[in-house]
Amino acid sequence: MKVYLDHVSTTPLNNEVKETYIKLLNEYYCNSDALYDDGVVIYEMQEKARNHIADLLGLKSNEIIFTSGACEANSLAIKGLCFNNPSKKHLITSIYEHSSVFNAFKQLEELFGYEVTYLAPNSNGKIHLDDIKKYLREDTLLVSIMLVNNEIGSINDINEIGEYIKKNTDAYFHSDITQGIGKIDLDLSNVDLASFSAHKIHGLKGSGALIKKQYVQLQPIISGGQQEFSIRGGTSNALVNVVLAKTLRLALENKEKYHKQINTMHEYLINELKDIVNINYCVGIETLINISTSIKAEVLLNALNQKGIMISSKSTCGSRSNELNRTLKAMNIDEDYAIRISFDYTNTLEELNYFIDNLKEILVKYA
Ligand code: PMP
Repeated sequence: MKVYLDHVSTTPLNNEVKETYIKLLNEYYCNSDALYDDGVVIYEMQEKARNHIADLLGLKSNEIIFTSGACEANSLAIKGLCFNNPSKKHLITSIYEHSSVFNAFKQLEELFGYEVTYLAPNSNGKIHLDDIKKYLREDTLLVSIMLVNNEIGSINDINEIGEYIKKNTDAYFHSDITQGIGKIDLDLSNVDLASFSAHKIHGLKGSGALIKKQYVQLQPIISGGQQEFSIRGGTSNALVNVVLAKTLRLALENKEKYHKQINTMHEYLINELKDIVNINYCVGIETLINISTSIKAEVLLNALNQKGIMISSKSTCGSRSNELNRTLKAMNIDEDYAIRISFDYTNTLEELNYFIDNLKEILVKYA
């Protein structure tokens, strides 16, 4: 039996999305910027998808910039804003952002002379508005705080943070919403920029978008032609962009449809786990539970892997790196022992049982 409990890392492709994509691939190949009929047809499909995504998120069509995923969207938001506003040199972010955000800030700090304030989460795993307020300055250009942390699942109140920044400062607010979209309710009215990725919501890898409110000006990071309002060059991956609309629609529909099932699965797991492991964090998104056991994570994950159970200990983007895990360190969780279980509506109770039974067996065997 194979059991996939690493949905924070990526998700299996939705069948409807796959079928649509294959059908489109078989039918269309022209450049969406070509001016003959076959090109125009693709262009129009892409723009319809852009409209659809904007409608689903309560935004305007020109506020959706297609990208290759969340890493690119994060880079474009952060560096694109800095390069367009070179006179303001102070930035605020958090210590536990995804590496695509954290390393963009590091690069700006180390190579481009920016001063960056890195905020730590409180013991409840969240970045608090009071901490942001303390560090905001006249020359703060940007605050970037993620919606949901990818290692512990904590949820930040990006609406409250964005509202304060909008009402009281000239700074912009960006949020990496990759781990929140399709899982929790979204209110994007107070964010200026937000990034997400298709493969976290059962879509294609190499697909995502940057949400950029109309009034925000960015410099392109990938220089090119007129594509994506001239801020993201490169021949449009039009068919991928077309199916992003379907991916997002299905994710939002399924979020409502499977709400009860997710809730039941969360309660079930917590109940089963609470007496056999240490639960490090379980009060954020319901689909992610961070635990520690008496066995080193590396050994436990290997033993689970041999039983066909796929789980990871930390962000997959850092899985081969020896760098200390910023999130777990900030939360005083020993990363040598922590693992993150992440499931979703495609899992069954039978699979969760299989995981629990094997976990119990492994804990006894290695005790
Ligand atoms: N942000 C967060 C919070 C993530 O979890 C990930 C995926 N690991 C990314 C950004 C990067 O997404 P992508 O793989 O689409 O570039």
